[in-house]
Amino acid sequence: MTEPTTSSPSTTTGASAVPPAVPLPGSLRDVLSGRRTGTPVVGGIAFGPVIRPAPPVDLAGVLTLPGGEPEHEIARYAAAVDAVSARLRARAEAASGVVAEVLVAQVGLVGDKGLRKAVEKAVRGGASAEAATVTAVDQFAAMLEKLGGLMAERVTDLRDLCGRLVAELRGLPEPGITIPPEPSVLLAPDLAPADTATLDPTRVVALATSLGGPTSHTAIIARQLGIPCVVAVPVDDIPVGTQVLVNGTAGEVLLHPDPQEVERLVTADRSERAAAEAWRGPGQTADGRRVAIYANVQDGPTARLAAAEPSEGVGLFRSELAFLGRDTEPSVEEQARLYADVLDAFGGRRVVIRTLDAGSDKPMKFATLPNEENPALGVRGLRLASRNPGLLSRQLDAIAQAAAETSTTPWVMAPMVATVSEAEAFAALCRTRSLVPGVMIEIPSAALLAHRLLEHVDFLSIGTNDLSQYTMAADRLSADLASLTDTWQPAVLHLVAITAAAGRAVGKPVGVCGEAAADPLLACVLVGLGVTSLSMAVSALRRVGTSIGSVSVAQCEQAAEVALAAPDPAAARAAAAEALGR
Ligand code: PEP
Ligand code: MG
Repeated sequence: MTEPTTSSPSTTTGASAVPPAVPLPGSLRDVLSGRRTGTPVVGGIAFGPVIRPAPPVDLAGVLTLPGGEPEHEIARYAAAVDAVSARLRARAEAASGVVAEVLVAQVGLVGDKGLRKAVEKAVRGGASAEAATVTAVDQFAAMLEKLGGLMAERVTDLRDLCGRLVAELRGLPEPGITIPPEPSVLLAPDLAPADTATLDPTRVVALATSLGGPTSHTAIIARQLGIPCVVAVPVDDIPVGTQVLVNGTAGEVLLHPDPQEVERLVTADRSERAAAEAWRGPGQTADGRRVAIYANVQDGPTARLAAAEPSEGVGLFRSELAFLGRDTEPSVEEQARLYADVLDAFGGRRVVIRTLDAGSDKPMKFATLPNEENPALGVRGLRLASRNPGLLSRQLDAIAQAAAETSTTPWVMAPMVATVSEAEAFAALCRTRSLVPGVMIEIPSAALLAHRLLEHVDFLSIGTNDLSQYTMAADRLSADLASLTDTWQPAVLHLVAITAAAGRAVGKPVGVCGEAAADPLLACVLVGLGVTSLSMAVSALRRVGTSIGSVSVAQCEQAAEVALAAPDPAAARAAAAEALGR
């Protein structure tokens, strides 16, 4: 027996033909239904009309402007640099923490000598100050893009500065965001740090961008402001004024949502926020299983900020971030001062220092190989020690010195460990200095052999950002692959489960310090998989602590079981949410 078909070319004619029912791909179906999905970055719900940054200055249009007398053009450029950097500096002074650092970095970039020299060269070749600025920025942007990773992400900053300089030279208003009169949702392809840094979270209540990844400036600033944020979500066609709801937890933007649904979600979110505000720690499930809640820090100021919050310590001190822009290796003395600053901020509380994770998206002149073909799979993290063992031993000496000065016992872990021998060698280096050794689980090989790594080290910390990247063979910075590098991928969760089971078998701690720990729903799943601590951006501490505190271990285990069995991240999220009654 044959099944009837809806249509066939031989039986249908002209305009009366009924087209075959072709199923719409998921993303297209979402667009048509007014539901856009992307990568969730900061959780929470916010609703309001869409605003967008002012249109960018027409940079191509200025390329044909006639050049003037070179000294005059150079003086105009210098005046524009002064005006733009004065404005950025004023904003930096009014800001604090990471926001201020981002703006100070922008001031450094606008006054960059290399950029000025490139502009002067173009001006002497007959270009106007405006055209010379665009040409010089193009050259620098191409250079950064070639370097890839974090360097390529800085191209947005550079282009933003270019627009500001050209607007200043043309006497146009500064491009950027005008503060809206009512709580609004900011949509854009990507956001420049100079704009996002001064956002008022009572007026701009959520962010969504079509580009960017979890480490873009948009994501960093949203996390600091504590406003819901989704990146890599198709929002470029949504007109200004459209009412949208941003669900930063689910990674969704809903157009013209049903008012009753908005009311329900916003009210639930408000009470969740209030509960989070009231959370004082320590981390534990509703039935009393302790799960330490730690902060991720990068230097003394961020550590002091974290120490003032209900964090039980530091689960990840990214030591390389303090030295990213350096050409030469910092001395043992200088390193020891930095480490002591962080250890001091936390007094006797646990601090886990990660040794230099240079390479890949964090190239460092004094440590990494230039021009690697494939740096994410190259000589990064602990692998640098085989070429340059002194780099690691000097860092461990500096940590030991800081430990002695502060009378503390820091835990120390190595990034990018792939083999049992690497773990064994690292542990020996730590133990001779009376430091407590651990390793990060970021590579599937390490997760699979976690039980053997634990024969040598005292703890494990799962870096879910890289573990997702290496498990799924997908660049963690690629917006196109964001659904693959999602830690909700059941394959990644399986590796977490294997690692946690290895720790439990020998009674050694296994934490998670990647971005996954900052997701309140996923945090419950991680607890259900057996991890003993969660370390995250300071802004996420309270929400995660509250989330875990509202569920039992059995619920977490049930959520973990259904997430592991799901076919993809979206299904895993939905199944876990149901199991947790969310
Ligand atoms: C990780 O990979 O999850 C991690 C914490 O390390 P980083 O994000 O610094 O690479
Ligand atoms: Mg990593």
